[in-house]
Amino acid sequence: VYLSSKDIRNKFIEYFESNGHKHEPSAPLVPKNDPSLLFTNAGMVQFKNYFVNPEIAPHKRVTTIQQCIRAGGKHNDLDDVGKSPRHHTFFEMLGNFSFGSYDKEQAIKFSWIFLTEKLELTKDRLRITVLEGDTETSNIWMRVAGLEKSQIIEMPKEDNFWSMGNDEGPCGTCTEIFWDMKRSDIPKDDENQWVEIWNIVFIDYWMNRNNQLRKLDTPCIDTGMGLERLASVLQNKTNNFDTDEFVYIIDGIKRTLSELGFTKNQREHNEKKITEHLRIIADHVRSSSLLISQGVFPSNTGRGYVLRRIIRRAIRSGYQLGASEGLIPSIFPFVEECLGSFYNSLVDHRDVIINTLRSEESAFLSTLERGLGVLDRELSRNLSKNLDIKTVFELYDTHGLPPDLTQIIAAEKGVSFDMKEFDKILEKTKEKSRETWNSKQKKSSEEQQKLDIFVEKCKKEGITSKFTGYTFPLDSRSSE
Ligand code: ATP
Ligand code: MG
Ligand code: MG
Ligand code: MG
Repeated sequence: VYLSSKDIRNKFIEYFESNGHKHEPSAPLVPKNDPSLLFTNAGMVQFKNYFVNPEIAPHKRVTTIQQCIRAGGKHNDLDDVGKSPRHHTFFEMLGNFSFGSYDKEQAIKFSWIFLTEKLELTKDRLRITVLEGDTETSNIWMRVAGLEKSQIIEMPKEDNFWSMGNDEGPCGTCTEIFWDMKRSDIPKDDENQWVEIWNIVFIDYWMNRNNQLRKLDTPCIDTGMGLERLASVLQNKTNNFDTDEFVYIIDGIKRTLSELGFTKNQREHNEKKITEHLRIIADHVRSSSLLISQGVFPSNTGRGYVLRRIIRRAIRSGYQLGASEGLIPSIFPFVEECLGSFYNSLVDHRDVIINTLRSEESAFLSTLERGLGVLDRELSRNLSKNLDIKTVFELYDTHGLPPDLTQIIAAEKGVSFDMKEFDKILEKTKEKSRETWNSKQKKSSEEQQKLDIFVEKCKKEGITSKFTGYTFPLDSRSSE
């Protein structure tokens, strides 16, 4: 059955509510009181403490649609966007949680019934992964879903042991549900034949900062299913970007490009690349709009820098499609139309979002063209496959081209550079500016001392403290 993204949201919540789950609102993208985490990257983030102390959970069964960002940090999908059919920087995670209310078998039953009975997905296109050696879970699947052993695949712990990826938190083995895309356009053994739709995590442990596991007193359940991926399955598409809400945004981008007269300057002519740029813009305007709406602003450090890199990637993709000023902020209304009723911050702060996108676009476009010129010259002059790290730094420092963006553009020409080298140079310049800052601080405290001595002397000599500015001590600085 075909279901729109909106229908899927409703159906999911309805099903888990009817099974005794409390529908809780999505937590903000910037986790509250959790400096260890850049952005909320899964539904369980807001419940972290309930897994350790289930007795403090107001409801033992909870369901949410959680807004997630996976850019920066350990779970970082930024580089895959546009290329991967199923990765976004912003996505919505449908989840159900148990804080000591039900066991593995019940969790597996819920998901199986939802997929095969409520959504009527064909059983033989579903595949299951479990952790190697986890016969308990395999047995449950065979018993509950009537699956053959051959439909259950054992995976190493890199895949089937879930942890938050920051320094400490709840974790456990997991079992994942995949959908067979049955694509005829790619080889049978291509990894894109399969899409992971649902991850069911058995939260049995707490991992501390040294990666040591402690068994929890009460086993809990944490599950997460990507809304956009489920939409691709239910809308019979092989790519998330071909589902209803993305099609709406991407059509909006195409129309805006031609209405603003940008199409005649198009710099990219390869069809595949054009599609990639459209997808990048759609994805990145979604994530940056949501981030700005929740108080993250472009800057050169931390969360703000992740946001800046996302926006600049979108701007560069727009530039390849011929856009100059005006494209990126004009895409916001399409995003608002899709997500505004679920994420009110988009509606409440629409002016701030548009203005921020506009000023970031205007600032970056003014240096982007020159930056790309420098890079192009360097790439065409360069016969080796390595880009000089000094160029990468100059592009960053003078033209505001984030190194990860330089990396993408260089890679298109088969050229690369060592990001670690870049980080080293960046660190050195930071050290230098810290040194000058420190020596300035030191100097000014020396000056302060001189001033104090001067004032004392004046007092002693009976000179009235008629303030005439700090001329004497500060003048000595300019003569140094
Ligand atoms: P993948 O292996 O495909 O990268 P994952 O194992 O990293 O996915 P989980 O951490 O298990 O993902 O998250 C739970 C669910 O959230 C996934 O099963 C998937 O449906 C969805 N999901 C994860 N990452 C993304 C993303 N970047 N964009 C869209 N959906 C995602
Ligand atoms: Mg992943
Ligand atoms: Mg996975
Ligand atoms: Mg997973």
